[in-house]
Amino acid sequence: MSFIGVDIGGTKALAVRVESGEVVASERFLLDRAMSTIDSLAVAVEKVADGDVRAIGVGIAGLVRTADGQFIWGPHVAGTEIPIGSELATRFGVPVAVDNDANAAAHAEFAIGAGAGYSNGLLVTLGTGIGGAIVASGEVYRGQGFAGEWGHTSFEQGGILCDCGRRGCWETRASGPALARLAREVVAANPDGSLARSLGDRTITGESVIAVADTGEETARSLVTEVGQAFGIGLSDLIVVLDPEIVVVGGGLGSVGESIIAPARRVVADSLHGGNLRIAPVIQVAALGESAGAVGAALIARERTNV
Ligand SMILES: [Zn+2]
Repeated sequence: MSFIGVDIGGTKALAVRVESGEVVASERFLLDRAMSTIDSLAVAVEKVADGDVRAIGVGIAGLVRTADGQFIWGPHVAGTEIPIGSELATRFGVPVAVDNDANAAAHAEFAIGAGAGYSNGLLVTLGTGIGGAIVASGEVYRGQGFAGEWGHTSFEQGGILCDCGRRGCWETRASGPALARLAREVVAANPDGSLARSLGDRTITGESVIAVADTGEETARSLVTEVGQAFGIGLSDLIVVLDPEIVVVGGGLGSVGESIIAPARRVVADSLHGGNLRIAPVIQVAALGESAGAVGAALIARERTNV
């Protein structure tokens, strides 16, 4: 008996097959932009399906009505109001659970990953932007469906234009693109400087700047610290509001680990009111990496079928 989980974003998808709690098959692939979201999901399921599939779970980037598996809207997904749950159930003849991708990832991290054993915590994903999910009393808290989109909280008035169309959002200061932008400014101002030489021919991305920082290059280190501190300022706000036991940091940049999380952790430690008299949450790197969303979707599918 197997459960299939698919994590689908704007450009790529990851499908896994889970049997007896273990991932036994995994396929990552780029989406064919000419294909509808439903057809892409069907392709993903077929890539890993084998034998007795009991249920399918889908984690998708955007607003989802979990009751009937309707995808409402997402900034990077083609189409709106897509009946993913009913369409896939008809095609494959099994129950289908659909959830937001960060909710699915949180489900996995708190079931079998870095958050296992904690009932109240946050998953905060740091990558192209900042997203995440809230786990309260062991359940993912969804609000009306969009809870956890804290990358778009107001970090500064005015500020840099965000992908969402507003200015000054938290993720304009703390994300892969934010770090790359800082590095590009330094390289443009000082094309023969140490950072430019260290980056060499590499494309300037958050990850490449962190890689240079980890070799000890001072400018890169200070830029990574600056972005880590901005991440920590926003995290402090989340912690003040929600008082979690643990913050699990995932996403492409967060998964890189201590070089960016350590400065954030210091900011949090210095900024919480009550200081040493309260217990600050554990801030820890996610355990499941990029497979968290797909694995979480499979686990949600399994729970919906009560097996
Ligand atoms: Zn924004």
